[in-house]
Amino acid sequence: MVVSSATIDSLLKEKEQYPPPESFRRQAVVRDPKILTDAEKDPEKFWADQAKELRWSKPWDKVLEWDPPFAKWFVGGTINVSENCLDRHVTSARRNKAAIVWEGESGERRVFTYHHLWREVNKFANVLRSLGVKRGDRVTIYMPMIPELPIAMLACARIGAPHSVIFGGFSSKAVQDRVADAESHVIVTADAGYRRGAPVLLKKAVDEAVEGLPVVRHVVVYKRAGIEVTMKEGRDVWWHEAMAKADDWCPPEPMGAADPLFILYTSGTTGKPKGVVHSTAGYLVGVAATTKLIFDLKEDDFYWCTADIGWVTGHSYIVYGPLATGATSFMFEGVPDYPKPNRWWQLVEEYGVTILYTAPTAIRACMRWGEDWPKMHDLSSLRLLGTVGEPINPEAWRWYYRTIGGSRCPIVDTWWQTETGMVLITPLPGIATLKPGSATRPFPGVAAEVVDEKGHTVGAGRGGYLVISRPWPAMLMTLYKDPERYKATYWSQVPGKYFTGDGARLDEDSYFWLMGRIDDVINISGHRVGTMEVESALVSHPKVAEAAVVGKPHALKGQALVAYVVLRTGEERSEPLKDELKKHVRAEIGPIAAPDEIYITEKLPKTRSGKIMRRVIRALVSGQEIGDTTTLEDPGAVEEVKKWLEAVEGKAP
Ligand code: ATP
Ligand code: MG
Repeated sequence: MVVSSATIDSLLKEKEQYPPPESFRRQAVVRDPKILTDAEKDPEKFWADQAKELRWSKPWDKVLEWDPPFAKWFVGGTINVSENCLDRHVTSARRNKAAIVWEGESGERRVFTYHHLWREVNKFANVLRSLGVKRGDRVTIYMPMIPELPIAMLACARIGAPHSVIFGGFSSKAVQDRVADAESHVIVTADAGYRRGAPVLLKKAVDEAVEGLPVVRHVVVYKRAGIEVTMKEGRDVWWHEAMAKADDWCPPEPMGAADPLFILYTSGTTGKPKGVVHSTAGYLVGVAATTKLIFDLKEDDFYWCTADIGWVTGHSYIVYGPLATGATSFMFEGVPDYPKPNRWWQLVEEYGVTILYTAPTAIRACMRWGEDWPKMHDLSSLRLLGTVGEPINPEAWRWYYRTIGGSRCPIVDTWWQTETGMVLITPLPGIATLKPGSATRPFPGVAAEVVDEKGHTVGAGRGGYLVISRPWPAMLMTLYKDPERYKATYWSQVPGKYFTGDGARLDEDSYFWLMGRIDDVINISGHRVGTMEVESALVSHPKVAEAAVVGKPHALKGQALVAYVVLRTGEERSEPLKDELKKHVRAEIGPIAAPDEIYITEKLPKTRSGKIMRRVIRALVSGQEIGDTTTLEDPGAVEEVKKWLEAVEGKAP
């Protein structure tokens, strides 16, 4: 067999299988696997059927116009996203159903019914209009996790002004770069947000950011914390004052199917953030269909996605997907361990959460704190669990399944990206047999493949590049003001196919196993190993909570493996433990993957979205200068990782 250099050696083999429990299957939205074969036969028909469930101002003439690499969905149709998320329900039995239920970090509660949310959105849409925002103008939103954030987004959608939401944990520099790129005349913010009891001064950060940015004409400020802020005469406007004067009806603007709904800058885990542009109709059809079919939503569900709305997960699966399907979407302002590590489980019990969607990094943190915390609460309302953001290692999957799901709830491991807008690879919980650590198969109508660098399919069992072989409705349209970078980043590596930048392998059942980013693959004695697999092997040791593995130049092997390991609460670091861990990895996946160096540390350096900063660690341990810090989301991250490395290496026994 000729082994292409682009394939990746896959060492992990997971054997367990979990068919859908009969009780779940019987009531599931999707019960018949025929949905997959039907959609495969005629993907455009599948998507058109999904689109028919929405309210259109004018129906489309053509489902898809594919002029590679630019796709237009539902050509000729016009539609308004806020009308579909609100007006459609307000004129139905859902009028008085809770649309958004919110809990603040300090325990305050607010409930917005569909009718109430609709009124607030109409009023804020009129506020934006009164500040001169017109169809096509980009509005920047920089807010904490409070209901006014989705209200501002939906108000933008109502008047056809694309929003650019910036995560409330980012610095003023990040705001400045994004506002300048998007050329926003209006910014919506709050005086402050809260994180672990301490105020985060958002308005102050905006003041610094817009200094020297004459493009910004108005800043709308929501009073969240009651903290004193400087209001600049003529520029700054209080949310509550403007809302008091606003009319409560604003007609929804019929938008072209391919008009942009929003710009979202990617997290920047691998480099300079990209302004990902999403469409109106295709995006809405994609997120509505995936929300309903993957999360198996029913009228009486209480659905909680723990992401921040500043990330794409929050856009698609807190705001647009759930509201388009008329669900009750829970929003929580706080973190899982404040004031104590039982906070999430207390919320699940008190609200009767039925569907919980979170990230592997959070699951591993909960594992580390120990199962006594979830055991304090009755979690029996849960019926479905989900994960997103990183590959989930089988050990964390099993913990989530047993300890949180009571061995009763299927887990949907959803693979997707900011760019894809919607989930692309995922189990459908009523029909999929799950394998811990695998995102299973593409969503109906989606075509994914694993290929080598020439675009040839790689056989079962071998790793390669994950590509998507045909357009899907929520696909990004372009990168803002940079179509060349769009072509180069996503469409130049493998001709005619969307390049995801992730490694994956297919098993004998055509299940997809995500292997992390291509950039994180390292070459040891001629083997290409995904660091994620070594991390997963380390975490399967009962004393280990988390691990980060990077490559470092090595005279003989090409690269050596360096592992940073966080132990579970209560475990002691020791020299024999390090040897034990090396042996454990050898036994789990083989001698070539045994780390050359292991460091035990208290924490791992992560991006704001909770992903390990392997790129920075790798550069620093290899002794490379990170010359171009402009490619980093937060140049302070380099300093942070440097300090972290010094502490680790200094303290390690
Ligand atoms: P940037 O693209 O700016 O470097 P990012 O890729 O971290 O940042 P996101 O779009 O938030 O930004 O993350 C998408 C990536 O997250 C995917 O490409 C993949 O690497 C990882 N990912 C998401 N979900 C899963 C999953 N279920 N299994 C494995 N990996 C996942
Ligand atoms: Mg990415």
